[in-house]
Amino acid sequence: TPVIVWFRSDLRIHDNTALAAAARQGPVVAVFLRCLSHWRRHGHGANKLDFWGRGVAALRDSLDGLGIPLLHRDIDYFARAPATLLEIARETGARALHFNHEYPLDEQRRDRDVIAAFQEAGLAATGHHDAVAFAPGELLTGKGDYYGVFTPFAKAWHRQLTPERIALRNTPAPQAPLPVAADPLPALPQLDDTPIDGRLWPAGEGPAADRLGRFLRYRGRHYQRQRDFPAIRGTSELSPYLALGMISPRQCLQAVLAENDGTLAEGDAGLTAWVNELVWREFYRHVAVGFPRVCRHRAFQRHTEALAWRDDEADFRAWCEGRTGYPIVDAAIRQLVATGWMHNRLRMVTAMFLSKHLLIDWRRGEDFFLRHLVDGEFCANNGGWQWAASTGTDAAPYFRIFNPTTQSTRFDPDGTFLAEWLPELAGLPAKARHAPSIDLLGGVDYPAPIVDHRAARVRALEAFKALTAG
Ligand code: FAD
Repeated sequence: TPVIVWFRSDLRIHDNTALAAAARQGPVVAVFLRCLSHWRRHGHGANKLDFWGRGVAALRDSLDGLGIPLLHRDIDYFARAPATLLEIARETGARALHFNHEYPLDEQRRDRDVIAAFQEAGLAATGHHDAVAFAPGELLTGKGDYYGVFTPFAKAWHRQLTPERIALRNTPAPQAPLPVAADPLPALPQLDDTPIDGRLWPAGEGPAADRLGRFLRYRGRHYQRQRDFPAIRGTSELSPYLALGMISPRQCLQAVLAENDGTLAEGDAGLTAWVNELVWREFYRHVAVGFPRVCRHRAFQRHTEALAWRDDEADFRAWCEGRTGYPIVDAAIRQLVATGWMHNRLRMVTAMFLSKHLLIDWRRGEDFFLRHLVDGEFCANNGGWQWAASTGTDAAPYFRIFNPTTQSTRFDPDGTFLAEWLPELAGLPAKARHAPSIDLLGGVDYPAPIVDHRAARVRALEAFKALTAG
């Protein structure tokens, strides 16, 4: 009898734990449940939904090659998942279901309901830990708690890592045809916003593997030196592919092992720094499970919940539209809106600018990012925002507030990135682009800074100090 594999954010046939487990049991029927209205409510924007749709189409083609039919169903709510999957089990005669875990709270709840519904129907449903080397709960502090700080988590991760944890899972062999017809894939309905040009992020395992190969060949060893400079393509740009599972962290780590004499923790400084980022990715997934309040729009650091955020719509709009008058912030936002991706250094700079200089609730920025990012992913996005706002794990101490102009001169010293995204400033001398004076701007249409760095810093410090005093 056939076995169902329910694909979600694991859109690949290679090194897929659930698929490998199912294929050991019998012929496979693949299922994808599209839950557009729910995803929209969770804040995913057109760029991510479009990439997701293209990723499912690429998966369908790969599954075709294995003789695995892909059933595609639209559901309005996660709550419809158990009944829809049971219906598919009845239609296909399947007796078992496999899936890979997703870690935000609603997804976990949805999966528990599916497992319970299958058990009640006398069928088996099994979740696998696939996007992480350690299941949340497997790495705990000496006191048995989840880690709330990255460095000891990373040390434990390296110490306890065994080769089996990151061994690649088997790709199933092609199977004999099943009497189950694949569903046609529906197009993405009209959304409020138009997605960016899909050619920027070609979907699927092939493009993901190409990117990994090119990154490791040309940039991996320079990663540590180049990763902070947004004008240089120094990072892998694999985040959208990792977020939807078009490539797995195991595939990334195995590729590093092959390049780095079989080790992840030592050897080339660039490659080990890159591994560290993959461990951050895993850390934030553990945080989402260990501290579920972060999935409920709550701060990781409870005492920061009393912070008096400013409710200033005009400032928020200026930030969203790249009109703050701080070129590095504005250029970064334009990069995000135009490409669905923003360089990590600039995610930190813009997030800190919103939450500290403008003292606007980080949750508004988290939401804006998710609406635009192709790689939008709850755990990393929430973790990054809470870090920048000093409300999270490893939170930047509240008094360490990036000076955007200093960040700009340090990490875009020639103003190249600024000139690319703010062509109106390209005519200024490179050094003047970081903080253009009114005299130099002349007739150029570029706003004056909406806040003064020093004054904004003092305002943020006072707001945070009021918390500790309270
Ligand atoms: P590389 O530098 O090549 O890193 C390799 C991979 O490691 C990335 O693809 C990503 O999967 C992971 N990674 C890298 N840095 C981090 C990090 N700080 N936290 C968690 N994982 C990391 N990343 C997302 O994938 N989705 C998000 O929605 C997201 N939102 C963010 C919001 C803020 C405010 C901040 C500060 C960071 C956010 N990040 C997010 C993390 C990071 O900025 C991106 O993963 C990275 O810029 C992606 O580019 P890359 O693939 O070239 O990364």
